Amino acid sequence: MLEIDGFEGQVLENEPLSNHCTWKIGGTAKYIVFPNDEKELELILDFAIKNNILWYVIGNGSNILFPDEGIDGIVIKMNRGFKNKCCISYKNREDVVVYLSAGLLVSEALSFLIKMELEGLEFISGIPGCIGGLLKMNAGAFGKEIGNFVEWVNIYNPCAGTITLKKEDLKFSYRKLELSEDFVILGGAFLLKKGDKEKIKSKIEEYQKIRKERQPLGLASCGSVFKNPKEGPAGKIIEELGLKGFQVGGARISDIHANFIVNTGNATAKDVLTLIELIKQKVWLKRGINLEEEVVKIGIKKSIKARVI
Ligand SMILES: Cc1cc2nc3c(=O)[nH]c(=O)nc-3n(C[C@H](O)[C@H](O)[C@H](O)COP(=O)(O)OP(=O)(O)OC[C@H]3O[C@@H](n4cnc5c(N)ncnc54)[C@H](O)[C@@H]3O)c2cc1C
Repeated sequence: MLEIDGFEGQVLENEPLSNHCTWKIGGTAKYIVFPNDEKELELILDFAIKNNILWYVIGNGSNILFPDEGIDGIVIKMNRGFKNKCCISYKNREDVVVYLSAGLLVSEALSFLIKMELEGLEFISGIPGCIGGLLKMNAGAFGKEIGNFVEWVNIYNPCAGTITLKKEDLKFSYRKLELSEDFVILGGAFLLKKGDKEKIKSKIEEYQKIRKERQPLGLASCGSVFKNPKEGPAGKIIEELGLKGFQVGGARISDIHANFIVNTGNATAKDVLTLIELIKQKVWLKRGINLEEEVVKIGIKKSIKARVI
């Protein structure tokens, strides 16, 4: 068992990674740890580095593919600790800077914003991630991206300690915040506006309704697998090639939204990777478009060879 002086967060040993991602796929992790705060995060990282153990940071696991072989290392899950939220400053009667810690789930962050009557981030409703994951992925929906609201981000790095990066030092692009893999996001400050509680709530409900209509929410997935290329929505391109419903093992291209690969029950990472490769090859051959994955592969090294369909 992993024993680190001063670490009081939960430690799971030989834990199925499928319990820790929305795709419900993956072998076992040697350790999954849940630091309660910055001090515990520091203890874990010091331990991993001193003992030459591989470590990975995740939020709620809603945009991750884990390997079937599992991970011989430490997966640091930032979704239980790091839940602070507060209003930092009222710039004027309208504009408010709000700090949200990395471990807050979208639903928790939005409940706070509704209570404080602050508008701007309603578009993230229904994204099943944590604030840290949303920042790292520059999550977006309905034409908006979280990076556009950021004032600064707090980060922990084993060499530099805790640092604050202001918006002018941050490079957000489509579904990406450029940040080295050994930087852990602790939280971010967002510039929002004073709004009307009922209007904020109804916007959130409207976005959730649209999601229910357009996405296969009842089945395990990672949301959109591919980024939208400049030629148009990846889902539309995949659908036009007649691929909806195509299946490899337990992984199936959703009948509702062709950019979603759903786990029909027993999908493996290999099934998903093979399906991803087949889609990429077909889209390249038929449309000359190079689809790029949005989903993050953690601990997956091998490339998959697939024969085009
Ligand atoms: C049904 C469904 C709908 C979705 N809809 C959308 C959508 O509309 N828009 C959208 O953008 N995405 C969407 N997603 C994808 C996903 O929810 C987002 O990418 C989300 O931002 C991931 O957050 P997470 O906490 O789950 O991160 P994880 O999946 O756990 O991690 C994602 C990446 O962020 C890194 N990371 C996580 N936390 C930290 C941290 N604290 N510090 C440093 N790195 C960190 C991980 O290492 C990994 O690289 C959807 C997913 C599902 C399943």
